[in-house]
Amino acid sequence: MLGRLGIHTILDALLYLPFRYEDRSAIKKIADISFEELTTISGKVVRSDLVSPSPRRPRLKMVEAIIADGSGTIKAKWFNQPYLKRVLKPGSSVVLHGAVKYGFGSGKVFLRDAACFEMVNPEYELLDDNEADTDQIHTGRIVPIYRSTEGLSQKQLRTILYTILHSTASTLSDHVPATIIKAYNFPALRESIHNVHFPTDPSSLEELNRGISPYHQRLAFNELFTLQLGLAAIKKGEATEKGISFAPDGRFTRQLLQRLPFTLTAAQERVFDEIHTDMQRPRAMNRLIQGDVGSGKTIVALLSMLAAVECGYQAALMAPTEILAEQHFITIHRLIEDLGLRIHLLTGSQRNKNVEIIASGNADIVVGTHALIQEGVSFNRLGLAVVDEQHRFGVMQRALLRKKGQNPDILVMTATPIPRTLALTLYGDLDYSIIDELPPNRSPIITKLVSESQREQVHATMKDEISKGRQVYVVYPIIEESEKIDLKDAVTGKERLQRRFHEFNTSLIHGKMKPLQREEIMAEFKKGGIHILVSTTVIEVGVDVPNATVMVIIHAERFGLSQLHQLRGRVGRGGSQSYCMLLSYHPSEDARKRLHVMVETTDGFRIAEEDLLIRGPGEFFGTRQSGLPDLKVADVQRDARLLEAARKEAFALIEDDPRLEKYPALRESIEDFWGRKLELFKTA
Ligand code: ADP
Ligand code: MG
Repeated sequence: MLGRLGIHTILDALLYLPFRYEDRSAIKKIADISFEELTTISGKVVRSDLVSPSPRRPRLKMVEAIIADGSGTIKAKWFNQPYLKRVLKPGSSVVLHGAVKYGFGSGKVFLRDAACFEMVNPEYELLDDNEADTDQIHTGRIVPIYRSTEGLSQKQLRTILYTILHSTASTLSDHVPATIIKAYNFPALRESIHNVHFPTDPSSLEELNRGISPYHQRLAFNELFTLQLGLAAIKKGEATEKGISFAPDGRFTRQLLQRLPFTLTAAQERVFDEIHTDMQRPRAMNRLIQGDVGSGKTIVALLSMLAAVECGYQAALMAPTEILAEQHFITIHRLIEDLGLRIHLLTGSQRNKNVEIIASGNADIVVGTHALIQEGVSFNRLGLAVVDEQHRFGVMQRALLRKKGQNPDILVMTATPIPRTLALTLYGDLDYSIIDELPPNRSPIITKLVSESQREQVHATMKDEISKGRQVYVVYPIIEESEKIDLKDAVTGKERLQRRFHEFNTSLIHGKMKPLQREEIMAEFKKGGIHILVSTTVIEVGVDVPNATVMVIIHAERFGLSQLHQLRGRVGRGGSQSYCMLLSYHPSEDARKRLHVMVETTDGFRIAEEDLLIRGPGEFFGTRQSGLPDLKVADVQRDARLLEAARKEAFALIEDDPRLEKYPALRESIEDFWGRKLELFKTA
């Protein structure tokens, strides 16, 4: 049962923190309660009934209970939980917690009492009369409320955790150096564990509920400190590890720069400079390039790859989708065709002969997907590996790619501008370069929210733009019509658009197509032969066709903010005014919020922050994807200042004692926390 909550060890249990607290030290008399107040009451169930409150919605069921505490009675209602009728038996003792409202309509019978007040969907807890609550863990104090699971009551879970806490907390030892604890005035570890579960100080309810009590902070610090120590150790290890010191002579990069139809932006130049300097150092480079969609990361990556090739090494570029890998392959091929370099593509569907060519060293530049890191793929002399759209990969995949060479330099690129706090956790072991400037002459994309009834307006924009020689993307959430889900689909959409715009060429592209066919379509679209490209999110990242100026997103309410931003980033890549039309169907409140953010700003940084706020850090960057250890207590946003402090202390400690020889217990706890992940880095 506890396993379902992710509790497998004592430590898991101790760190299974309440998600909120209730002050049941102050149980109110029913006679004293007032309107709209968050209140805890305790009393006996007088009666409970299952009723249908609305004749128009006969299936809506409600349990209505009357609770009395000697000072008065109050009505409580729960919707759609008919089993509560059995739970709340007359005569049983309960504690209810929730907001108090005025009751209207039914139940006039009880109006004479305080029963014009009522509680709707309050939290409830049954109190067992027979069993004396000796330790007072369920009432008469600030009570922890845990997320529980079916078949395990709040009270049972609380009792279990209380027992574990009392029998084991005294064996906990604190590995964080005492000087740090003192410097930040943190309470002791044991005291903190006790207080986050069963707080003793009633004045701190608000801090407890926000997870920022000194005790929470102490535990969060421990966690962040351990995380950062791991990152610091990885970084230190890499820093001392011998890498390649490239001595590029610039013959290929110079030629490339000459044949580009544009000059680099100052930001691109600066970032390439940083990489160039780093590549010459005798240690392995690990650098993140961050640049908003369309900021021109590809060319910087290509320049870096050419620098490696100048020194007789192979360079690889890994992209998250086949379409993107294919596109990179085509673009790069075109740009360096006559430099006499050998470039090859390696994707899941196009392996075969290229595997040998790569292994034998007869490829200078290799572009590919995950296929690059699969077993059986080896390089002759891999000098630089670039990961495009890093947020689509994880730490693990980066490490695997690195293993394909002997300490090659690594460059990872992402368009997802992440708030600094999150960057410190996710990319804490990397050096950082930012392309904070878009190429000149880009006018901001005009974004419009439209509904089904405004379809004609969308069509008019499409028609206008195509008549000017531009191209259009129309993105659908699903490929084909589905019985399970009521959504517009790409296949039907393409047919409709073809009928509507019979004078234009409309094509369809999606992930289930044969790669060759997809390549042809993308190439045709790039050439301008296709006016309207109907697609699924396969074109979400990286796709670059500067002549496309309209992005229509059907069912925009179904997409997340970062996704919408990425999709919108497919247009506005040339000099012409571009448009993004977000067509939504009955958006929820949250969806509406997202869509408005899209209209308000094109700034990827702001969008990422809003996204983080709406989704929370866990989802924003699925930990599974990032490959980092889970954070149970800390919240990188809420605890941003702690994170900075933990980082500072951790890096200082590792600088001073890289193998933590003076702190063997601390070292052990880091290894536990990081598990296999740290090992992967050690051998990488
Ligand atoms: P992203 O950073 O999103 O990967 P890309 O590298 O795909 O962006 O570049 C977007 C577009 O901008 C491409 O068409 C590219 O050729 C163009 N581009 C890149 N750098 C410049 C520049 N300095 N001036 C003008 N256009 C540029
Ligand atoms: Mg890109």
